[in-house]
Amino acid sequence: MAIDVFAHEATVRARPGRLLGDVLVDLGFCDRPTVESIVRDARAASRPMQHLLIERGLIDSSQLALAVAERFGLGYMSLDNLHPDIAAMQLVPEPTLRRLQAVPVGFRDQATLIVAMSNPTNVLALDDLTMLTDLRVEPIVVSRDDLEVLLLRLGRLEREFVQSDDAEAEAAALEPTPALEASADDDPTAKLVRSLVSQAIQLGASDVHFDPDDGDLQVRYRIDGIMAPAARIPRRQAGRVISRIKILSDLDIAERRLPQDGRTSLALDGRRVDVRVTIVPLVDGESAVMRILDPGDGPLSLGELGMGDADRARVDKALRRSHGAILATGPTGSGKSTSLYASVAVVSSPEKTIMTIEDPVEYRLPGVKQMQVFERAGLTFQTGLRAIVRADPDIIMVGEMRDRESARIAIEAALTGHLVLSTLHTNSAPATPARLIEMGVEPYLVASAVDCILAQRLARRLCTHCRLPVRVPGSVVGLPDDRHEVQIYEPEGCHRCRETGYRGRIGLFEVMTVTDEIRALIVAHAPAVKLAKVAIEQGMRTLLDDGLEKVRSGQTTLAEISRVTG
Ligand SMILES: [Zn+2]
Repeated sequence: MAIDVFAHEATVRARPGRLLGDVLVDLGFCDRPTVESIVRDARAASRPMQHLLIERGLIDSSQLALAVAERFGLGYMSLDNLHPDIAAMQLVPEPTLRRLQAVPVGFRDQATLIVAMSNPTNVLALDDLTMLTDLRVEPIVVSRDDLEVLLLRLGRLEREFVQSDDAEAEAAALEPTPALEASADDDPTAKLVRSLVSQAIQLGASDVHFDPDDGDLQVRYRIDGIMAPAARIPRRQAGRVISRIKILSDLDIAERRLPQDGRTSLALDGRRVDVRVTIVPLVDGESAVMRILDPGDGPLSLGELGMGDADRARVDKALRRSHGAILATGPTGSGKSTSLYASVAVVSSPEKTIMTIEDPVEYRLPGVKQMQVFERAGLTFQTGLRAIVRADPDIIMVGEMRDRESARIAIEAALTGHLVLSTLHTNSAPATPARLIEMGVEPYLVASAVDCILAQRLARRLCTHCRLPVRVPGSVVGLPDDRHEVQIYEPEGCHRCRETGYRGRIGLFEVMTVTDEIRALIVAHAPAVKLAKVAIEQGMRTLLDDGLEKVRSGQTTLAEISRVTG
């Protein structure tokens, strides 16, 4: 991730520096008499004075590091603001770095590696690193404690994928494509790709992007919907990384001019994580996107997604019926398929047969018969859905109503004794019936089949460790009067939230029950605004209402609400 070290001109070798004792006094860490007595004791004992300073508790290891940095005119960083680039970290094996007491943490530019050290005067280590990496090396100072944490982290990164044979065999048996572990060897490129995916999962990222950038590969994670830089892969390794990703997902390495889609899986902590891979040829090189399909311990419940009690009661009521359609709508990335999975979990029981057709299958649901769209082989939403209807399920989940034919079959299934759950791309709940009619489904079929429509968005959740209280007039957050100010929060940023001010996401919902009045409006082709007016009179809260309530309760911000509902 981004490394921003204070600019400096001098290098270690060119600048002998001031005496450490003087720097400690100037920085106010020690007084002059203390320094003088330590210097005397150090001489008498033939030991470095910094050891005595730490041993006697006169300064701590970060104060020492700060003083060392100051003395040599180098940058200082603590782990709180240092986000190491894991491509850089893995340029040199961990045992070597432990011996050198140095960890590469990022790149200044294509030819310069930034290396964290607690003793930047160790020119032998600097020379070794230059030889090993073929890059110029620029030291920054970290405390001994932080350096040890970096080395431990690196060791863990390298060990992470040494799985038991059992776990590997199981993963291989489950998936016909080569699992990431199947070729776990000492190949540094394979190791790098594995650790990037692993780190992405640990950070809760949904996607890993590898984009060509001036010959290098820029790696970014999508975390809570927002792209964050993760690593930079140097030019000489870039091509190998893309090839590696293709091999893992069973794609053609030689094909560099056409887009390709594939899939792979990764056994991590005994759990299997599916990854969907998309390779896109761009004018300046190939880009790869790895979508992590199983980032957590299964799908969240509607409550965990942030749906309020009243809305949940409406959805539950529709889910308890034996037939009819429940639709989740919103743009891509609004979390509607997560809501669909949460709904399936509500109705799932051993007495009921549930079948799904999805693209992709994002979670495996126990006891549910899941089918994956496979267009190349002719298995589309349409053909899959036809087969499902013949296979006599009670509940059908259709990943997405993508075209007229799949929409029509799903709606007919809802009218013939099946409970149908599906998603659609529309902006609001009241706009959804019109969209179905536009797709070619008869208005009276839409009106009689659809029972409940939920529109949703995902807003980033405020980090509770650093959010800042601010006071605003009530009208700003949707309250009717301005006589009282209301306390809400703004994002600040701390090391827990990677300085973004946000951690995780929360759903905003708009749940419309299709009542008799609304059915009549649908049959009469009434515009969405008219449906909205009646639905609000009947108790529907809009996405904006729900968002503002979540601002008032300190869960998210006005900026997020306008970003996702605007
Ligand atoms: Zn924070």
